[in-house]
Amino acid sequence: MKRDEITKILLDESEIPKQWYNILADMPNKPGPHISAMTGKPATFEELSQIFPKEVIMQEFAPDRYIDIPNEVREMYKQWRPSPLYRARALEKLLDTPARIYYKYEGVNATGSHKLNTALPQVFYNRNEGIKRIATETGAGQWGSALAMACNRFGIESTIYMVKVSYEQKPYRRSFMQTFGGNVIASPSNLTNCGRSILAADPNCTGSLGIAISEAEEDAATHADTNYALGSVLNHVCMHQTIIGIETKKQLEMVDEYPDIVIACCGGGSNFAGMAFPFVQDIYKGKKLRAIAVEPTACPTLTKGVFAYDYGDTVKVGPITKMYTLGHDFVPAGIHAGGLRYHGDSPLVSQLYHDGTIEAQAYGQKDVFDAAVQFARAEGIVPAPESAHAIKGAIHEALVAKAEGKEKVIVFNLSGHGYFDMASYDRYFSGDIDNLEYSHEAVEESMKHLPKITLD
Ligand SMILES: *Cc1c(COP(=O)(O)O)cnc(C)c1O
Repeated sequence: MKRDEITKILLDESEIPKQWYNILADMPNKPGPHISAMTGKPATFEELSQIFPKEVIMQEFAPDRYIDIPNEVREMYKQWRPSPLYRARALEKLLDTPARIYYKYEGVNATGSHKLNTALPQVFYNRNEGIKRIATETGAGQWGSALAMACNRFGIESTIYMVKVSYEQKPYRRSFMQTFGGNVIASPSNLTNCGRSILAADPNCTGSLGIAISEAEEDAATHADTNYALGSVLNHVCMHQTIIGIETKKQLEMVDEYPDIVIACCGGGSNFAGMAFPFVQDIYKGKKLRAIAVEPTACPTLTKGVFAYDYGDTVKVGPITKMYTLGHDFVPAGIHAGGLRYHGDSPLVSQLYHDGTIEAQAYGQKDVFDAAVQFARAEGIVPAPESAHAIKGAIHEALVAKAEGKEKVIVFNLSGHGYFDMASYDRYFSGDIDNLEYSHEAVEESMKHLPKITLD
């Protein structure tokens, strides 16, 4: 294939990877163990199995470098995988950069983001272990959409606690989930103790991701036939997403390229992990490249947070993990990239950042929307506001390459499309979007409430 004639690099169905890459096997410093919020001690298999299937718990701590992708899941991946890798030639021209820019497009499945890559295997393992229903939370709606669709594929029920403010603002996301049989509930709800106690204190509470997580976890823990599923952060989720980077490597090989820089946006860390980990594996083998996680300045977990044990949710039900965090009661400003508003980060991504193996950058949302529109006009795809953070990072690096007069190869992950987010674009076009910064004081206050964990 001639590098400078090609726009879209496609692989054959038969080249969908047969295994995921488990970076735990290669990390010189492993992340600290997950701690039970009940006991303050490392979470046991029994505790976790109240809400997760055995196979998923095994994957969470697996020592193996590669884990087989079940055939049934691989068959379903075929509907949209391998996903295309594009050369961003129009964007390169616009920026007048000597850099060659490529992007992997994960918005090509019905739900419009990378999250279906992990929803399918998670539901598959639950179905195999006799689970009849999955309870989960959704903020912006992408994870709920992926989970509803995956449950529909495997013939089990889904209950999705959707943060009330999104439930009201994003009716089409709700209808999408219902199309795939999802039972969508505005959170806080009257269905759980957690929801009832919050409503008793504040009947008009508009909800938060932390509350929705607690409702879903309570639902799963109190029903024997029901489990919980998480769309980011945890090790097994990051591993399922490595299918993105493994495919990208093969696609780049087809045009005789290897990246100098790989970039992805970072909320809980799963799409960054998916793109970057297979390249970090090369770093461990001696290759030189930079992997950059891009986050919003309104929720700058890696760039401004601390590396500490913290709760994953506001109501302190789920496991405590060692990660970069802004504090579990830090509430970021209501930016439009809802998927990047998480106070913590994946323990794996956090450890790699702590060790200096990967880098991080933060950008303001106005600058990110500028980049999103520039990209849309050049490349013809409207990006999700989350994914636009990766675009902003790639444009920045392409301009650095231009200033240095260097022919760099930049690859970024376009984690999803923005066709359910046009209301946010609307706000941008009416001049209603600012470069929000985080509040240093709020984070300092939140840091006072970190749990004290002592490991022997
Ligand atoms: C959920 C989401 C993200 C953020 O989650 P990660 O786990 O950090 O990948 C980014 N982009 C899109 C399109 C999403 O739906």
